[in-house]
Amino acid sequence: MDVLERYLQSIKIVLVRPSHAGNIGACARAMKTMGLRQLHLVQPKQFPSPEATALASGAEDVLNNSQVHKSLMSAVEGSDLLLATSARSRRFPKPLIELHQLPELVKSTLSTQKIAVVFGCERTGLTQEEFMLCHKHIQIDTDSAYRSLNLSHAVQLISYMLRRGVFTDREASTESSSSAHLDVANVSSHEHLYQRILKPFKDVNVTSNTDRMITEQRLRQIFSRAQLSQMDVDFLHAVVQALSKSGAE
Ligand code: SAH
Repeated sequence: MDVLERYLQSIKIVLVRPSHAGNIGACARAMKTMGLRQLHLVQPKQFPSPEATALASGAEDVLNNSQVHKSLMSAVEGSDLLLATSARSRRFPKPLIELHQLPELVKSTLSTQKIAVVFGCERTGLTQEEFMLCHKHIQIDTDSAYRSLNLSHAVQLISYMLRRGVFTDREASTESSSSAHLDVANVSSHEHLYQRILKPFKDVNVTSNTDRMITEQRLRQIFSRAQLSQMDVDFLHAVVQALSKSGAE
């Protein structure tokens, strides 16, 4: 297996609260056709199930290797770039990527960032909190009168575009993937830093919930643009520590 295939296989597809067992199997099949292998399930309604196995139809290995998690945070552990998928525009928007732009994004992050693509449940999609945890928003362009694809169809289209991003311009990609892995800080270590910076806002009663959401959103956007390394994150922890000691936090 070459370095590009390995990279494709390192991309996580995360299904949050999938409610139809058959869809889980159909997603596994969609992934396998495109060379993706890592399926993560957050609180699936029913799994494992004969229906999932039936719809996987030859991709049972992806199903059998899938991992079940209690929370989205646990499912994306170790990933650096979280891409939320949603048909809807959101109240607190994220940088929007249309489906056709996804290969470019993948190419630009190749081997420097580990990607996880996050999908919502069939009926209600991702919650605001789940959406906020992600760095960017992928939208699949559809007819404006009917925007919502079947979950496995959305996984199929996105898996195809991830594959295109990894394999187009194979030589250039191989060159960039052999370059040193940048030490981009992972999601958990970012999260720890956010929580520390946001703590004073949560403690103060005068801040309204909406203000707190806006603050959190802005902070996440600034930090995801900055692509902080682990050293940066450690340094910012030290800054927060110093500020809190001096009483200026
Ligand atoms: N009624 C839900 C739709 C859920 S469809 C809602 O309003 O959000 C199940 C999942 O498929 C979505 O959560 C999303 O992850 C994906 N999906 C479906 N249509 C999509 C689209 N047009 N763009 C991006 N993702 C889509």
